[in-house]
Order: sequence, then C-alpha cells, then structure tokens
Amino acid sequence: MVKVGIIGGSIGGLTAACLLRDRGIAEVEVFERSHSELEQRGAGIGFLEPASRYLKAFAKIDLDDISVKTQKIRYLDRQNDITFEKGHTYRFSSWTTVYKLLLRSFDSNSYKLGQELVDWENGSKAVTAKFKNGESATFDLMICADGVGSDSRKKLLPNVLSNYSGYVAWRGIVSESDLDQKLRERLSEAITYYVFANSHILVYPIPSLDGSVKKGERLINFVWYRNYAEGSELSDLLTGEDGKYRSISVPPGLLKEHHVLEAKAVAKARMPRDIANLVDATQNPFIQVVYDVSVDKMVFQRICLLGDAAFVARPHAAAGSAKAAEDGWQLANLLEKQKDIDKSLKMWESMQLRLGKDLIKRTRLIGDRSQVYNNWNPEEKRFLFGLHKAGE
Ligand SMILES: Cc1cc2nc3c(=O)[nH]c(=O)nc-3n(C[C@H](O)[C@H](O)[C@H](O)COP(=O)(O)OP(=O)(O)OC[C@H]3O[C@@H](n4cnc5c(N)ncnc54)[C@H](O)[C@@H]3O)c2cc1C
Repeated sequence: MVKVGIIGGSIGGLTAACLLRDRGIAEVEVFERSHSELEQRGAGIGFLEPASRYLKAFAKIDLDDISVKTQKIRYLDRQNDITFEKGHTYRFSSWTTVYKLLLRSFDSNSYKLGQELVDWENGSKAVTAKFKNGESATFDLMICADGVGSDSRKKLLPNVLSNYSGYVAWRGIVSESDLDQKLRERLSEAITYYVFANSHILVYPIPSLDGSVKKGERLINFVWYRNYAEGSELSDLLTGEDGKYRSISVPPGLLKEHHVLEAKAVAKARMPRDIANLVDATQNPFIQVVYDVSVDKMVFQRICLLGDAAFVARPHAAAGSAKAAEDGWQLANLLEKQKDIDKSLKMWESMQLRLGKDLIKRTRLIGDRSQVYNNWNPEEKRFLFGLHKAGE
C-alpha cells in the first residue's frame, strides 16, 4: 500500500490523513511539531460544508451536535438599530471542536507529537523526511500541511512572500451566560455585522470550550478587522506582555494592556451598544494578522503543499479550513481513481491552484472594500461566506 507522511496535524493535515486511511488509499502517519495536543486557537470558524464533510460522512457525527446554526444575516448601525436583515443559514463551530473530533477519528499511534520536520531528500519515487530529533522516515508521498508560516513552502518556494494585508483581526469570546438574556438572544440568533470607517466586526455564536452547543452554554465570538501601519505601530501590537514578537498571532492573555484598553475604548465610542458591550465583556482578546499568500506550484516530485501551507486567503470567506479539507478530498479522490501518484498529483495541482487563486482574489476584494474603500454593501452576494463562490 502507498505510504503517506503528513507534516502538520491540524485541520488540513488531519482531514487528509483520515480520508486517505478510511478510503483504503494509503497507510498514513501524521507528524506534528507541537509536543502536546494542539490548543484552542482561532476561536470560532465558519463551518463550511467541505470542513464538515468528513465528520458527517465518515465519522457519522450529527453536525447539530458540534456546531451552531444561525438563520439570519443582520447589520446594525451606530444607534444599535437593524439596517439590513435577510434570511441565510450559516453553521459555526470552533477550531478546537473540529480538531478534537478529527483527532479522535484518527489512529493515535500514527499521530506523532514533537516531530518537527527540518529537512528532506526528495526523489522521483520517494521522499525521506528528517526531523529535528534526528529521526527520519521514508514515504511515497509527503504532504506538507504546516500552515500559514509553512517552512516547507519557504524552502520549496523561497520567492513566495507572505503579504501583510494592512490589517489584523481582533478576536474574542464571551460566554453566553456572562451576557444579559436580551443581549445573548440578539447576538445568538443571527450573524451580526457592523461596518464602519475602514473597519468591520462580525459576531456569531459558537460551541463552548468543551464543545457544548446547548443554549446558554455556548460562546459568542467576534472578529474585528482593524488597520495597523506596517512598522512600529504593528510591531508594538505584535510584541506581547512577555516581550516576545510574534508575526502571525498574539494568543489570549498576551496582548499589552494599552492595546486592549484602546480597543475597548474605540468599541465603546464608535460601535453599536450590543457589540461594544460584547467587546467590553471579553476577558482575553487575541489577534491574528491577516496575510495573503499565493503560490504557482503545489507539487514538487513527491512533496505537495496543502491548506494554508499553499494559499493563505484573508478570512472574509470563512473558507480557510474548508479549503484545507477540500485539498485533502480532491487528492484522495484522484489517488483512488487514478491509482498513479504522479498523474494524480499533476491533476490535483492544476485544480487546487485554480481554487486557491480564485479564493485569494475574492477575499482580497472583500477586505479592500471594507478596510480601504469603504464601499461595503450588505445586499451584494459577494460578501457571503463560501469556498468555491460567495454563498457556496
Ligand atoms: C482571523 C481568522 C479567522 C478565520 N476564520 C475562519 C473561518 O471562519 N472558517 C475557516 O474555515 N477558516 C478560518 N480561518 C482560517 C483557518 O484557521 C486556517 O485556514 C486553517 O486553520 C488552516 O489549516 P491548516 O491545517 O492548513 O494549517 P494550520 O491550522 O496552521 O496547521 C499547521 C500545523 O502544522 C504544524 N507545523 C508547522 N510546522 C511544522 C513542522 N516543521 N513540522 C511539523 N509540524 C509543523 C503546526 O504546529 C500546526 O499544527 C481563519 C483564519 C484567521 C486568521
């Protein structure tokens, strides 16, 4: 049987691993750099169909048990009045809920923690991965699903840069039980937007940290896009209370106090009451820097790049984990059908390059409409979440 090694044991790597194993396509091992199971990151995720497909079809999980559905898209104005509302269903889950379920579905003996890929020898028929602890392993195919900061991408495509979008996402979660009943109900029945000068914030309900989707036990999550000039303004934000600079995200509890106070003051001064109250109630907000990364190649003999290791799209389509999962689904489909690794990889690369480039183009436009041009229009379909197209 074909032997596949997957580098990176997050949503992209685990989805591909489960699929290749369950469909009898390959023997799979996952190598994750972290020494312990991954922790809560990213809080809520828009849970698009490709991201949930494996859990529904193979793990036989009822999606209503692991995600929260909203039935409306709602926009507020500064006075807290509803200015636009339409019926539209979205599902939301959390990064942790999805990660834990995928991990439970995979074989724990083949999920290897504390294994950081540092080098490889690639050939036309096999690849040997070399890890920081001195171990090595040989596969027919190595899938690099090592995320936004992918060292594999940097090594394979040294000229590809991570382009800073000009803004970061401030994120936070508040327990439904910490909000008064009226506010809780208003913020959990819809996805709620407030769009203002060179900024926008969206609010939606997600499962609790232990995965509960019971009303009253869930969390309300926000994502607030804010512009920061590259240079000292951004670097001050990205240097945490511990003095450490992080280029991708600053985790909960580490943002400097003056930034947290400033964000809460801006929310109070400029946002509708409901959303300002939510931001104010957030204990430990955190940030993720928004980047665009686009590649022209995903396959390098017997190595391929999957998920954020290939394309990183701005989060406005809520499609990052769906794209990572879709890369895995398409690869599994082709390997199963073609029964030839090189032919499958060639076909896969051309399909997934198109998907990645389209998503980058679409999400860049949405971001620019909000953060630069101030001409966001809730009635336009282009602002809907979706992987393949807006709304799909
Ligand atoms: C603000 C924001 C909001 C978002 N909202 C959504 C949303 O609503 N819906 C959605 O679907 N997506 C969303 N995303 C995107 C989503 O989080 C990512 O697209 C998704 O997590 C990518 O998954 P991945 O498996 O490719 O990479 P990652 O989740 O980044 O995982 C990479 C893994 O590789 C490991 N690794 C790295 N280097 C090595 C190495 N050398 N050796 C071994 N292991 C290594 C890392 O430890 C990590 O576990 C959002 C992103 C941001 C920034």
